[in-house]
Amino acid sequence: MGFKDELEKRRTFGIISHPDAGKTTLTEKLLLFGGAIQEAGAVKSNKIKKSTTSDFMEIERQRGISVATSVMAFDYSGLKINILDTPGHQDFAEDTYRTLTAVDSVIVVIDVAKGVEPQTEKLVNVCRMRNTPIIVFINKLDREGKDGFDLLDEIEQKLGLHVCPLSWPIGMGQRFKGVYNLFEKKLQLFSPHGKLENPEEIIEIKDLEAVELENSVGKGPADELREEVETIKGIYPKFDRNDYLKGSISPVFFGSAINNFGVKELLDCFVQIAPQPLERITEERVVKPDEKDFSGFIFKIHANMDPKHRDRIAFLRICSGIFERNTNYLHVRLNRKMKFPNPTSFMAEKKMVIDEAYPGDVIGLYDSGNFKIGDAITSGEALHFTGIPSFSPEQFRYVNNADPLKAKQLSKGLEQLMDEGVAQMFTKDEDGRRIIGTVGALQFEVIQYRLEHEYGAKVTYEPVNLYKACWISANNIKQMQEFKNKRKREMATDKDGKSVFLAESAWSLKTIQENFPEISFHFQSEWKNNQ
Ligand code: GDP
Repeated sequence: MGFKDELEKRRTFGIISHPDAGKTTLTEKLLLFGGAIQEAGAVKSNKIKKSTTSDFMEIERQRGISVATSVMAFDYSGLKINILDTPGHQDFAEDTYRTLTAVDSVIVVIDVAKGVEPQTEKLVNVCRMRNTPIIVFINKLDREGKDGFDLLDEIEQKLGLHVCPLSWPIGMGQRFKGVYNLFEKKLQLFSPHGKLENPEEIIEIKDLEAVELENSVGKGPADELREEVETIKGIYPKFDRNDYLKGSISPVFFGSAINNFGVKELLDCFVQIAPQPLERITEERVVKPDEKDFSGFIFKIHANMDPKHRDRIAFLRICSGIFERNTNYLHVRLNRKMKFPNPTSFMAEKKMVIDEAYPGDVIGLYDSGNFKIGDAITSGEALHFTGIPSFSPEQFRYVNNADPLKAKQLSKGLEQLMDEGVAQMFTKDEDGRRIIGTVGALQFEVIQYRLEHEYGAKVTYEPVNLYKACWISANNIKQMQEFKNKRKREMATDKDGKSVFLAESAWSLKTIQENFPEISFHFQSEWKNNQ
């Protein structure tokens, strides 16, 4: 099979949800359809549950699971589908943000009873920044939940998506009869714990006035469905694939992942509409997937679980050309040629060494500390991929060295953990003190634990009252200089040497913005001019 065919076969996507909405269950069912696993329960949830305050073995165990489930590939309908796993735990949201840079589309899972939850909102926001095509799956229809129209309203308002239902539920919970596929005009009747293939449950009903509808679901539900479908036609636009690909419309499906219901419809639609590997933007130019020369970027780094071996796995998304084993490539940031003898692909729980990989694929590279998140590897061109921003952390602490003899180990450990993207570190301009910023409290414990066990360094934390880290920009160089001089105490430098303003509160930031109107404050390390 030629390069072009391989490229056109790839579909790389991520599933995002608030914890417990059903992401793991849906992933598992998709893998079952694809034949990548044979039984339910094979995909371990990568949820990190904080059962006791220092349950580090649990964290370690979970880290192992999340390496195994980082990329799950399966074949379906002639396509090669790559699902990139995204941690559900909100303390690891930054990991998820970065994984979203490596996908070409996403499926958002929403719990019918809970509706749009905070984590869903944050993650969809990140997708919208990049106009990533989104399909919505409303899950757990076997339970009582919110009214379908109310849910769609909520999705439009809270997630800022324009929706277009492609299936519609008939009742829910005890009264759940099934879904009507508006796209294919087929009725699918619900039976709990459905088998993977259950064709006799699907009835083609082209005309909703047909009496088969009553015969299948009863008079009341049939009338209700007719009325609701009329309303849908009146409110929502017709599905247009181009609008979906531009990220301006999101098709919505209803189902119940645990009961295998509505999952095949979702998958069948996904393979028809989801984009093949998309182009990627670099500082230099746009990289098209069908270019001959290879290029890719690192979006995730995972430390080895065994502290005696400090090697790590760096995850590379291939953006163009063919990646080949044992070939000399350019590590752009280090300006160094590198070869990879053991590139690994992941198939559910199995790992294997691969000889080549294509755009859309994600492979693991063994790394002894050469990679940082965002690094580019290419056939030779010096490309710098954009769109892999750092976001302002939510929690901040000073980090102090608790063992003066181990200062070197501490610096090395901190540097490597930051390269991995475990947290962010800012060095204060005034006194060189280091501040660690994270999305959640759990990372502070992880860092402390890993510094001690992997690097032999001990740290203590000290509270620091901060609201956000703001990357700053200004056209007016004079005002920028004046600002930096005046606010010297609050200035720091991030890992890439960029200036960051550490704001104490939303209120103080607002006042400062008023005093320095020509300075822009950004809550992320990359921005467009209008943000
Ligand atoms: P995740 O945190 O998003 O990965 O959620 P899981 O897939 O682990 O699911 C969370 C819980 O919801 C588990 O107990 C699942 O068995 C349950 N669940 C998943 N899908 C359904 C569904 O369609 N109906 C019902 N009733 N429960 C479901």
